[in-house]
Amino acid sequence: MKDIAQRLAAEITGDVKTAEPMSKHTTFKIGGPADLFVEPQTTEDLIRSLEFLRGQSIPVFVMGNGSNLLVSDSGYRGAVIRLAGEFLRTDYGPTTVDAGAAVSLPKLAREASARGLGGLEFAAGIPATIGGALMMNAGAHGCEIGGVIAEAEILDTDLKVHTLRHKDLGLSYRRSNLAPGAVVCRVRLELEPGESEALLAKCHHNLQVRRERQPRLPNAGSIFKNPPEDAAGRLIDAAGLKGRRAGGAMISEVHANFIVNCGNATAEDVCTLINMAKTAVAEQFGMELKLEVRLLGY
Ligand SMILES: Cc1cc2nc3c(=O)[nH]c(=O)nc-3n(C[C@H](O)[C@H](O)[C@H](O)COP(=O)(O)OP(=O)(O)OC[C@H]3O[C@@H](n4cnc5c(N)ncnc54)[C@H](O)[C@@H]3O)c2cc1C
Repeated sequence: MKDIAQRLAAEITGDVKTAEPMSKHTTFKIGGPADLFVEPQTTEDLIRSLEFLRGQSIPVFVMGNGSNLLVSDSGYRGAVIRLAGEFLRTDYGPTTVDAGAAVSLPKLAREASARGLGGLEFAAGIPATIGGALMMNAGAHGCEIGGVIAEAEILDTDLKVHTLRHKDLGLSYRRSNLAPGAVVCRVRLELEPGESEALLAKCHHNLQVRRERQPRLPNAGSIFKNPPEDAAGRLIDAAGLKGRRAGGAMISEVHANFIVNCGNATAEDVCTLINMAKTAVAEQFGMELKLEVRLLGY
C-alpha cells in the first residue's frame, strides 16, 4: 500500500496516509485502520483520486465527520476519503450560504445565526459536516437540513459535477436518494433573515437541551432510526436494556438509543449491544429496529 499511496500522493495536492486508525476520525473513537486515508483539497484532486483508485480496483468510502459511523475493529480494506482544503470554504450571500461539504454543521449554525440568518439553529449540536448532514438528512427539534437546502453540487459516479435542486435530492427521514458512490461537494442553503441575538439564543437553548438529554461519553448519535409513531430509545428502555454493557460499550443510561464508549470499547462490543437491542425489541414488542448508524468494514 505504501507504494500506491506514494503514487497517489504525487498526483494530488492533498495528503495520503496508509494504515490510518479510524478511531482517530470517528466520534465513537472506535475503528481499525483504513488501508488508505486520502484528503483531497479540491474537486480536481477528488476526481484524480477517484480515477486513480478505480484504476487500482480499490474500494472507496467518503466520510464526513465520522459522527454516524461504526468502523469495524479490522478497519477498512480500501480508501477512506475525507474532504479538506476548498471543501472547508463558506461564502455568504444576503440570504444564502454556499458551504463546502466538509464545513462543520455546528460552526455553520453559529456563524449563520451571528450574521442574522436563521434556519440552522436546530443543528447547533449535531457534530456533522454539511455533506454528511445532507446524505443523512440530519434533523432535530422538528427540523431537518433538507428544509434549508436549495441545491447541491454532486460529483456523480460518472465523475462529472452536477448541480441538483432540492427536489432532486430525494430527502426523507434520515436519507437522501443520491447514488451510492456519489460525493456531495458543495451545498447551497437558503436561510431566513432574523435577529442575530435571538437566533444565537435558540442555538444555545438547543445545545442545553442536548446536554441534559444526551450522554457525554463518545458515541455516534442515535443507533437506530425511530420506527413510525414510536421512538427507538423508548422501546429499548422498555425492554430493560438501559445501562446494559458488553466489554467497554454500554447502552446509555441517559438515552437508550445511544451506545457509549466507556473508554476501551471495540466495534464488536457495540455490535453485541446492537444485536441485543434488536432481538429484545423484536421479541417483546414485535418491532424491527433499523440501523441509523452506518457501518464500514463489515
Ligand atoms: C453526539 C451526537 C449527536 C447527534 N445528533 C444528531 C441529531 O440530532 N440528528 C441527526 O440527524 N443526527 C445526529 N447525529 C448523527 C450524525 O451527526 C448525523 O448522521 C450526520 O448527518 C453525520 O454527518 P457526518 O459528516 O459525521 O457523516 P459521517 O458519519 O462521516 O458519514 C455518514 C454518511 O454520510 C456519507 N457522507 C458523508 N459526507 C459525504 C460526502 N461529502 N459525500 C457523500 N457521502 C458523504 C458517508 O459515506 C456515510 O454514509 C449525532 C451524532 C452524535 C455523535
